Amino acid sequence: MRQTEDTYRHKGLRKKLVDLVRSKGITDEKVLEAIATIPRHYFLDSAFDEVAYEDKAFPIAASQTISQPYTVAYQSQLLEIKPFIKVLEIGTGSAYQASVLAEMGAQVFTIERQKALFENNKQFDFIKKYRNIKFFYGDGYEGLPTYAPFDRILITAAAPDIPPRLITQLKTGGMMVIPVGSGEVQVMKRLIRQPDGSMKEEVYDKFSFVPMLQGKKE
Ligand code: SAH
Repeated sequence: MRQTEDTYRHKGLRKKLVDLVRSKGITDEKVLEAIATIPRHYFLDSAFDEVAYEDKAFPIAASQTISQPYTVAYQSQLLEIKPFIKVLEIGTGSAYQASVLAEMGAQVFTIERQKALFENNKQFDFIKKYRNIKFFYGDGYEGLPTYAPFDRILITAAAPDIPPRLITQLKTGGMMVIPVGSGEVQVMKRLIRQPDGSMKEEVYDKFSFVPMLQGKKE
């Protein structure tokens, strides 16, 4: 069961979470505002109500996770989101990250390979307010050629390598933020597509994501 009520207690906890994320080094005020606005407890089962505003990842359906708020903020900050830019997200999961991007004004296209999670989000009333999110059931390795090119591509699962098809769906000057690595720990990278088609690579901190897997799952 989902929670649908946003109490003063929730709002207070959310404010503390924003302070914590800020103290860990997030400076993009638009990112912090989005976290302050979105009721994260709506994205979790009511069993997690007490802990929804701790800076931790939690289990959702299909053995997947909702990312840690700091991680969501970190990736969102690296993406340098501006209103109306087109963002492709791989790994919808709970749709919390997609909501943060939508709250910041991006046009979000998000893909999930787990059918159960994709279906769950269809019945998620709160998310319907974000008319700027489009949900897709599919394999993120393929991207969305029909809607390409994108200004930004965000991968929210651990990728063993940079998926080549996604690179081709990025605009010149566009950025991809991706945790790369096949072990327990991955390194966050930001790739910026150059006019000659090559990618400038920047390396950031270490994180731990669930794996990006091939193909769709029924
Ligand atoms: N962004 C999510 C966190 C997702 S966890 C949130 O805010 O809650 C990573 C998600 O990526 C999982 O739901 C997993 O099923 C999905 N995933 C893994 N490989 C994928 C692929 N190839 N295509 C699309 N989704 C994928």
